[in-house]
Amino acid sequence: CGIVGYVGPRESQDILLAGLARLEYRGYDSAGIAVIDREGSLGMRKKAGKLARLREALDEAPLGAGTTGIGHTRWATHGGPTDLNAHPHLADDDRLAVIHNGIIENFSALKAELEAEGFSFRSQTDTEVAAVLLGREYRAAGGDLAAAFRAVVSRLEGAFTLLAMHEDHPGLVVGARRNSPLVIGLGEGENFLGSDVAAFVEHTRRALAIGQDQIVSITPEGVSVTDFDGAVVEVEPFEVSWDA
Ligand code: GLU
Repeated sequence: CGIVGYVGPRESQDILLAGLARLEYRGYDSAGIAVIDREGSLGMRKKAGKLARLREALDEAPLGAGTTGIGHTRWATHGGPTDLNAHPHLADDDRLAVIHNGIIENFSALKAELEAEGFSFRSQTDTEVAAVLLGREYRAAGGDLAAAFRAVVSRLEGAFTLLAMHEDHPGLVVGARRNSPLVIGLGEGENFLGSDVAAFVEHTRRALAIGQDQIVSITPEGVSVTDFDGAVVEVEPFEVSWDA
C-alpha cells in the first residue's frame, strides 16, 4: 500500500517512519521496515496493526543505526493481516529484504516452482514469492541486484511496485514498477523512493516519476533508470507543487 526507501547520510529509521506516517492516509493493516546498519548487517521489524505497534516493537528491540532502508504499510490481499505476512519479506539467508505494493497474479505457480527446488516460505503472501525468486536470481546473476530484478520482472504477472536491498550492497536500493506507482525524490547526497511524493516531500520537492515497466537504482550519489531489458531511460525531474 505505502512504500518508502532511503539512501543517504541520515538515520534511515527516522526517515522511513516519518514517510510511512505521511502515507497513513491511504489506509493499511500492518507496517514494517528494514535497515542495513553501519556494521553492514540487515535488520527488520514488522507488525500487524498501526504504526504505533511497529514503533513499540522498535523501542523494545531497536535496530542498529543505519543509513539505508525500506519501509512499507500493507493492505493485505493475499494472506491475513498478521506479523509474519507484513512486509518486508526476507530471502537469500535473510540478507535480502523486499517490499511490494500490488498483486502477483501468478504467485501460486511460481511458489510451486520454487518449493520444488527446495525453497521454503514463512508467509502466505504473493510478495514473499517475489522475494524468494529475487534471491534465487540474485545468486544466478552473480550478486547484481539490478540484473536480478530484470530476470524477476519478466516472470511476474499482475501489478507491482517492488523495492529491495541486500547486505552485499549497503547504500543501494533497487525498485521496479508495473501497473503501480513509484516516484524518486532527489536530495543532496541522499535520495528517496516513494509510492507517492508524500513519502519524501518534507525532505525534497525535486522528483522523478518512474514510467511503466522500469527499474530504478538509487545510491546517495545518484539514480539510474532502465527499462525491463536494461536499456537506460532518461527521465526529466519535476518540481512537486504540493502543500505538505
Ligand atoms: N499483495 C501484497 C500482500 O498482500 C501487497 C499488498 C499491498 O499492496 O499492500 O501482502
